[in-house]
Amino acid sequence: MQVLSYLSLGSNLGNRRENLKKACELLKQSAGVKFLKSSAVYETRPIGRVEQREFLNAAVKLKTVLSPLELLTLCKQIEKLMKRKKTVKWGPRIIDLDIVLFGNLNLKSKQLTIPHKEMEKRQFVLKPLSDIYGRGKHPVSGRTFKSMLKKLAGESNIRKVWTKI
Ligand code: AMP
Repeated sequence: MQVLSYLSLGSNLGNRRENLKKACELLKQSAGVKFLKSSAVYETRPIGRVEQREFLNAAVKLKTVLSPLELLTLCKQIEKLMKRKKTVKWGPRIIDLDIVLFGNLNLKSKQLTIPHKEMEKRQFVLKPLSDIYGRGKHPVSGRTFKSMLKKLAGESNIRKVWTKI
């Protein structure tokens, strides 16, 4: 069975845009994944207390025959291949790949929470996502991405820097 899935990508180390491009290339080459679309690229101020560079964030749309756990494993493989080192929570990273949506799946397990648990609170997830899934809704709450973004409109820590990855 093929499922539509949306991933969130972020980078704030090295050549950040190249890192996003490289992650997309690796996804395109991966078995069991069909890369469908990518969003614009946004620059976002980091959250948390660690002093670090701004992030570039984007989202991609895939069609996959992989299971959620297999897709997570693939995301981790790509992070590893790109030499992401384990750092502190919310610390700097060459690449971060998160599964935001996996069809209409609602899953809470030890390894995975889908929809991604931070998505409603994060402009850097919602903004790129709404580029490629404009009429999208949160599969559990039913809220539209646009209404979630409206709620966060007071936070002005995101700006579009490129129209494509
Ligand atoms: P991170 O440091 O942001 O890459 O996340 C680390 C861990 O978050 C991963 O090893 C996953 O087990 C867990 N995780 C939980 N939900 C998700 C999700 N939706 N997408 C990716 N990782 C997730």
